[in-house]
Amino acid sequence: MGGFFGTVSQKECVADLFYGTDYNSHLGTRRGGLAAYDSQNKNFTRSIHNLENAYFRSKFEPGLSRFAGATSGIGVISDTDAQPLVLHSHLGRFAIVTVAKVNNIEELVRQLLNENCHFAELSSGKINQTELVALLLIQGKTFREGIENVFRHIDGSCSMLLLTEDGIIAARDEWGRTPIVLGKKEGAWAATSETTAFPNLDFETVRDLGPGEIVRLRADGVEVIRPASNHQQICSFLWVYYGFPTSTYEARNVEDMRYENGRLMAEEDNEANDVDCVCGIPDSGVGMALGYAAGLKKPYRRTISKYTPTWPRSFTPSNQEMRSLVAKMKLIPNRDMLRGKKVLFCDDSIVRGTQLRDNVGVLFEDGAKEVHMRIACPPLIYGCPFIGFTSSKSDMELITRRVIQELEGDAHKNLERYADVSTPEYERMTELIRQRLGLTSLKFNKMETLVKAIGLPKCRLCTHCFDGTGCCGLKEETKE
Ligand code: SF4
Repeated sequence: MGGFFGTVSQKECVADLFYGTDYNSHLGTRRGGLAAYDSQNKNFTRSIHNLENAYFRSKFEPGLSRFAGATSGIGVISDTDAQPLVLHSHLGRFAIVTVAKVNNIEELVRQLLNENCHFAELSSGKINQTELVALLLIQGKTFREGIENVFRHIDGSCSMLLLTEDGIIAARDEWGRTPIVLGKKEGAWAATSETTAFPNLDFETVRDLGPGEIVRLRADGVEVIRPASNHQQICSFLWVYYGFPTSTYEARNVEDMRYENGRLMAEEDNEANDVDCVCGIPDSGVGMALGYAAGLKKPYRRTISKYTPTWPRSFTPSNQEMRSLVAKMKLIPNRDMLRGKKVLFCDDSIVRGTQLRDNVGVLFEDGAKEVHMRIACPPLIYGCPFIGFTSSKSDMELITRRVIQELEGDAHKNLERYADVSTPEYERMTELIRQRLGLTSLKFNKMETLVKAIGLPKCRLCTHCFDGTGCCGLKEETKE
């Protein structure tokens, strides 16, 4: 997905920019970048590093003195392209970072090349989608017009921060799928994907930007350039998986939601009465498991732990084989606590299921008597066209689709029935997944329980990957 942070201050802002961006590190794994503006010398400075095998801080700290004197800046942790880009345009000089997924990239590139535009940046040999966004943006006569042009043309989603010579422009994606939250402290304002960036930098959360809203932040305040629209589809997976526990979007805290999600799910679980304990798969399964344990009135036990000192979450090799190995090496079962125990585990989701299957095998080998699995969300049946939450090239990588293929002879057949918890198809799919993973029992969360735990009306949430719907149960064709 990716995350960003921007701040503008009456004083030098480099430390806030550095740590604020770093606090978005869990949202991306590929590139990190900073751009800052020194208003006295009227100078933009930019730096980009590969984060595939190192922490953001270790890569950027040695070169931080280059940014000295800057009073505004933007930073990004990107899951896709190298950013920020710095442009000299008819709108003035500006730097841009995006959290985006552009599905119609080839069509837009063709269109722009036909209009005699060119692409300068190469991102792993591909078109840099932030550059594509920048080219669409500078077609407008104003920043507002340019951003609206981006919203109009992009199939997918795009939130962005622009560092200009007159403050920072923050624009939240047209449907509000990814968050941008504003914060302030004396003499400074900030915009971030994750509010986790705020407390230690002394920023107070002020408000979330609304869907499609555009604002300009200056050190002394916020100017609304484009008001929010009234249709919202914030990603429900932010609470389930992406978000850091201390973050809050739309006034709903991530850890609090996870706890409540587990507690509500446990209250409906009549197959777990004789488990010995509950354990979360680190990291995103832990909050849910604490709630589950409370709901079941069973002890929470860390029968599996993550070895964090040398395995940062951001270390995710692009090669699937290496990824599986790293995933396995990071999690360490506690044999002394597993032996002879019936354990109920909580995890955020099942995508391909390969890693989970291996983990389950290890848990049994290490002496667990029963391994029950509870998943924080409904089965993932549709790929994500909006933020790219998996690196899956095709929906067929989802375990649900492989099982549907097996059951129906066609991976695209009756998907609506497989997404409906009340159907025999749903039962059959869940049972087959349980068997494939070697679990004692398996339950996915119900959509109603997930929505209740988040606490927003369903029509304000994107639940597309679970039920294929866009807005209020309509297919996603309401977009212009
Ligand atoms: S499809 Fe799923 S992961 Fe993608 S934005 Fe919607 S809820 Fe989030």
